[in-house]
Amino acid sequence: MTNGCPSDCIHIQYGRLKVENEYICQICGTTTFLPGGNRYAEGHHLQPLGGNHHGPDILENIIILCPNHHAEFDYCSIAINPNTLYIEHVDTNDYYYNRPLAYQKNNLSMEFLEYHYFLYLNGKNI
Ligand SMILES: [Zn+2]
Repeated sequence: MTNGCPSDCIHIQYGRLKVENEYICQICGTTTFLPGGNRYAEGHHLQPLGGNHHGPDILENIIILCPNHHAEFDYCSIAINPNTLYIEHVDTNDYYYNRPLAYQKNNLSMEFLEYHYFLYLNGKNI
């Protein structure tokens, strides 16, 4: 990563979390279908586990994403504004810019939304 936003590509570790959300991306509302009728999604730690971030590996810190939006979260080109809960994007022409989440996960913590939003704002300013 070049903008100080660390990669945090850790697949969902909680079977319960995936089932509850039916593998649906919280940004775009899509799911990725696999052979055999299985579905696929990825979990992103809003406050990364590694580096100097020391984010916790708990449900409140994990947003459910499709692979494309996971990449955008890893690179901090997208974030959720913790005040409005609307999506922000470095490309204001992005379809999801200034739109609400496809759905909210009730246990997603404001603390970690704020943490990721701070990383996003810092990345924009580089
Ligand atoms: Zn998505």
